[in-house]
Amino acid sequence: MAKYIGPVCKLCRREGEKLFLKGQRCYTPKCAFERRAYPPGEHGRQALWRRRRVSEYWKQLREKQKTRRVYNVTERQFRRYYRKAQQQRGLTGQTLLVLLERRLDNVIYRLNFAESRPQARMLVAHGHFSVNGRRTDIPSMLVSPGDVIEVREGSRKRTYFKELPQVAETRASPPWLERDAPNLSAKVMQEPQRGDIDANLNEQLIVEYYSR
Ligand code: SF4
Repeated sequence: MAKYIGPVCKLCRREGEKLFLKGQRCYTPKCAFERRAYPPGEHGRQALWRRRRVSEYWKQLREKQKTRRVYNVTERQFRRYYRKAQQQRGLTGQTLLVLLERRLDNVIYRLNFAESRPQARMLVAHGHFSVNGRRTDIPSMLVSPGDVIEVREGSRKRTYFKELPQVAETRASPPWLERDAPNLSAKVMQEPQRGDIDANLNEQLIVEYYSR
């Protein structure tokens, strides 16, 4: 399936919970989910989640879609991550989440160098970051322990990055990343653990979805 370019608030309403896809706006009363906590569409109001009888398959499908939306990846990419997770040692569901968490756009978001994952993806795609001294514009790049991520020299003059050191400090970074906010850089200390993942996700349902 192609990349989704429609209104992101619809995705939260479809999944029945806030996915925080719009940064600061998600914390204000303007949040669409706060105002209309029912699925989008003509009959959304009647299909309120609590009243619905749901099948196991439906729960598994929704969990897979929610995870995909949180990390902003397409169906095809997501399946590829799943296959890769299956080939690795350990629990497939956890390995899948760890792979997603290691994406460069997610790392930029977790460092609080961007308000949301979609914004982080855009900043990476515009070439504002380097990994181990090399410019990269690939949001799906997987970081590994020892990697050093920095805002590129040319980008530091921009207003956004000039203000970023103070902004970045307003949210803690996860323990597997060592952030140096004043220097707009960070080091990957280790692979993320399951407990480091802050999104409300149930990987077991995703494994069940793909095991049908
Ligand atoms: Fe979701 Fe944020 Fe939109 Fe609220 S404002 S519905 S949390 S994307």
